[in-house]
Amino acid sequence: MTEEHMNNDPFEGALTQLNKAAKIIDFPDELLQILSTPQRQIEVSFPLKMDSGKIQLIHGYRIQHNNWRGPYKGGLRYHPDVNKSEVKALALWMTIKNVICDVPFGGGKGGLEIDPKNLSKKELEEMTRQFARSLAPNIGSELDVPAPDVNTNSLIMDWIADEYEKLRIENGGLKIDANKLKAVVTGKSIKNGGSEGREEATGMGGFFVLEELVNKMGLKKPLTVAIQGFGNVGSHLAKLLCDNGFEIMAISDSRGGVRSRTEKGFNIDLVKKCKLEKGFISECYCIGSVCDNPDDVKGDISNETILKLPVDILIPAAMEGVITGENAPDIKANIILEMANGPTTAEADEILEKNGIIVVPDVLANSGGVTVSYFEWLQNMNGEKWSLEKVNTQLKEKVVKAFEEVWKIKEEKKVSPRTATYVLALQRLKEAYTKVVQP
Ligand code: NAD
Repeated sequence: MTEEHMNNDPFEGALTQLNKAAKIIDFPDELLQILSTPQRQIEVSFPLKMDSGKIQLIHGYRIQHNNWRGPYKGGLRYHPDVNKSEVKALALWMTIKNVICDVPFGGGKGGLEIDPKNLSKKELEEMTRQFARSLAPNIGSELDVPAPDVNTNSLIMDWIADEYEKLRIENGGLKIDANKLKAVVTGKSIKNGGSEGREEATGMGGFFVLEELVNKMGLKKPLTVAIQGFGNVGSHLAKLLCDNGFEIMAISDSRGGVRSRTEKGFNIDLVKKCKLEKGFISECYCIGSVCDNPDDVKGDISNETILKLPVDILIPAAMEGVITGENAPDIKANIILEMANGPTTAEADEILEKNGIIVVPDVLANSGGVTVSYFEWLQNMNGEKWSLEKVNTQLKEKVVKAFEEVWKIKEEKKVSPRTATYVLALQRLKEAYTKVVQP
């Protein structure tokens, strides 16, 4: 492996973050070694019959990183770039995240190496059901609880829950409470045991965290924002920011994006409507304020340029590894709110820290999703149904508490928010190991 490749290898990057925090608190070497290797690495391959009659071999993973604090928990993504190192990193970050937002789960992650946009709905469903069957022996409400991630959603979670339920019934598992069976995955549709508020939860959690930070730093609104990614996370967060005194100056998706040419940012409702109609943000050049300027060009901003715009806050909300050693020196925002998992490489992190940019780490910024996934799991396990108000109130309480705890360590130890977050996580993991694993 070349040095450059090592630097950009997601799992190596995740270990760098872990090691940095471990040094600060003299974390025991043996525990660090255990946390540096996932407990179980599952690889699956299965044939998928395409509508054309051809067979395509599908390949994927479920990495179960750590379960000292509870069942493994983390999303499933469908993306052509899914690979083992990426999924291992994502699983480790889930362990850290679940500790930080203090839910009784360990960390896991999974994915299929596929572009689902090239599949028909029938193919997508069949592939998902086959994936569920491959994973079935290793998942369960008290063993490993997947959730949505990139290119997966409530419909896909419903198919997994349904397939899992069928398998258990075929195998004589009828005695298991139906609600508990549903708790095998979270992020389901509401009619199939999902929670109110789960879909918006990640964006909303990020919004609460950012509001805390803005207050802590004494910043005055309006504050300008650029967002990379307009999927579940990016679109819900954009709407909340737009309604609460932030100006969204640029926004993108996988095909590139658009930039507002006036001081007032986009009207996000119009962007959403346009994206729904046209499919891609880059086709939405004629919306909100952009259309008022005759010089506007179609799809006028790349996913690289959006990172370097002169805004107060930069929000990567798409894929990992987008902020690198190469582009980090050109970042002009004072705050980066990491809504994507792992958007910043270890090399870039050093540069941003030196440049005095406050980076709110992914494991804190996007922890709202798994927090409400926990509420969904709890509702399924206890046969309850919470109101949206209850979900959002408890979500706010949990993420604000996590932010305050991290900020306190950041101030005490004079470290970056990311290192403070990992310090807190390691302290709690050590406690779990001592209490539960090695009584
Ligand atoms: P999504 O599939 O709903 O949306 C992804 C968005 O990113 C889309 O707008 C897509 O067009 C865009 N995108 C894809 N490739 C891109 C590229 N190369 N450059 C720029 N944009 C690109 O996914 P999501 O659920 O919104 O997840 C986004 C990020 O947030 C991921 O890193 C995910 O792991 C993380 N995350 C999601 C949740 C959740 O609850 N969904 C929770 C925590 C973290």
